[in-house]
Amino acid sequence: MTITTLIITFIFGSIIGSFLNVVIYRLNTNLSISKGHSKCFSCGRALGPKDLVPILSYLLFRGRCRTCKSKISVQYPLVEIFTGLMFVFVTYFYFFDNDIFIGNNIFNKGVIFSVLTQMSFFKYIFFVFDLSLLSLLICIFVYDFRHKIIPDSLVYTGVILMFVKIVISLIIFKIGWFGTIAVLLAGPIVALPFALFWLVSGGRWMGLGDAKLALIVGWGLGISYGYTALMYSFWIGAISIIGLTLIREMFDAFSTPNNALGIKIRFLHNKKLQYFARRLPSFKLRSEIPFGPFIIVAFYMIYFLGKNLLWWL
Ligand SMILES: [Zn+2]
Repeated sequence: MTITTLIITFIFGSIIGSFLNVVIYRLNTNLSISKGHSKCFSCGRALGPKDLVPILSYLLFRGRCRTCKSKISVQYPLVEIFTGLMFVFVTYFYFFDNDIFIGNNIFNKGVIFSVLTQMSFFKYIFFVFDLSLLSLLICIFVYDFRHKIIPDSLVYTGVILMFVKIVISLIIFKIGWFGTIAVLLAGPIVALPFALFWLVSGGRWMGLGDAKLALIVGWGLGISYGYTALMYSFWIGAISIIGLTLIREMFDAFSTPNNALGIKIRFLHNKKLQYFARRLPSFKLRSEIPFGPFIIVAFYMIYFLGKNLLWWL
């Protein structure tokens, strides 16, 4: 992969990322996604080309509006950087790394890992499918993280994308009627535990949105990888919540010189670190924890590390 290809792919991805930010913002405010100019949330000034360069505008104006100096959320550059990187990795997997081509093993390894071995028309189609799906998952991640709900419009678009990719794969790979049924059932089978959690708890432990998301995971990764992803998502969730809670508690307990144990830990007195610790998400009630982001991180992990995780799974 040449450095030029890499840079162009990254720039293109970050532009898509800045579009994803618009989608996330406008979904929450019921504004049309395609109409109207973006404005500063504080002073309402219409943003010009100078303000809309992905990542660079944020860095150049130090995360503040040029006129009113109000702070711009770090979500904007983060989504742009992450989408850029995702585009680079997917491009690398499809066109520069031959190991990813596991072949037509759609039954065992799901539709995601069933990439055609030769350069073909369908490979480009799958490439675009994967970029769209992974972009959509970034939107769901951010939206669920911020608003603790998965919008139906996003998750159903993902379900449809995934299902169309499955139908195309089934037509190309011709895996027999037993395989076909297994592949089609993989989505509902992986979504079932979440649907049950939702049903049993009356929506308190798990939203129905998480079950819809699991449908995408099941169809994308197949039954065994789909369940592996679910297991990962529980672990990632547990580790992040425990980790965040520990960090906050640590700062709360030891950031003053006269704490209960009389211990002075120098780095906990750093004002900048304290500022970041206070801004970490805190979840006081179970119902405040969005689960979608953990499912999405698990999906990303298996998508990008799948072939390296294969041997011990
Ligand atoms: Zn402003």
